[in-house]
Amino acid sequence: MEQALDEVFRWLQQAAFPAAFTGAGVSTLSGIRDFRGKNGVYREPWQGMAVEELLSLPVFEKDPVHFYGWAREFVYRLDRFQPGAVHLLLAELEAAGMMKEVITQNIDLLHQRAGSRNVCEIHGSPARHHCRRCGSVQSYDEVGPVVMAGEIPRCRSCHGVMKPDIVFYGENLDEDRLQHAFDTMAGCDLLLVMGSSLTVQPAASLPAEAARHGARIVIVNDQPTPLDRLAARRFRSLEEFADGLRARLAQISGA
Ligand SMILES: [Zn+2]
Repeated sequence: MEQALDEVFRWLQQAAFPAAFTGAGVSTLSGIRDFRGKNGVYREPWQGMAVEELLSLPVFEKDPVHFYGWAREFVYRLDRFQPGAVHLLLAELEAAGMMKEVITQNIDLLHQRAGSRNVCEIHGSPARHHCRRCGSVQSYDEVGPVVMAGEIPRCRSCHGVMKPDIVFYGENLDEDRLQHAFDTMAGCDLLLVMGSSLTVQPAASLPAEAARHGARIVIVNDQPTPLDRLAARRFRSLEEFADGLRARLAQISGA
């Protein structure tokens, strides 16, 4: 383990374009339950509705009260959660010039809260909301208090319903964002893949794209993934991996 970590750390120091891909696993270290895991949020119905319905665009358009009622407990209470070891590691690596970009499946804003600046959220983000009617924008901080007060957030100019920029079921991923993620994969020479089961598209294709272009792949996940055979190094524990690399980074920063 220690030797393997030394090696990965050396790769990070030497890489011209080191990147990372993260999934729900990295946020379970912050206490956010894995969305699709066994005890995941997606498994629990809310007031008789499955989460696939709550996050479905047609249901939202019919009556946003269901989504906002459910989201009040989770999406608009992200302040309860603190960045975990992986979020901190990636922010510290970026500050040290050893991480160019984080591509994430998560919508919990924890990479940004940890200090990462270059983050691509392929499933969107609640940081911004758009009016369904006129397209005007409101921030998470503007919408949050309205939702917490049990109301539906509405546009100030046309009174249309505001929708978070999270990709709902029935909605396509943002094409530009996805293209950007694929470009990053094609351009990176080292990719840390952390906390993703890599079973849902496009998550499964992105690291494969990096491998196809010759990037060195490091996979850290407690469960096997379909891309394990592409990995130059494979670790199970996110926490040990992140803590080990943070310790090495602290050492060279202090020197
Ligand atoms: Zn509007």
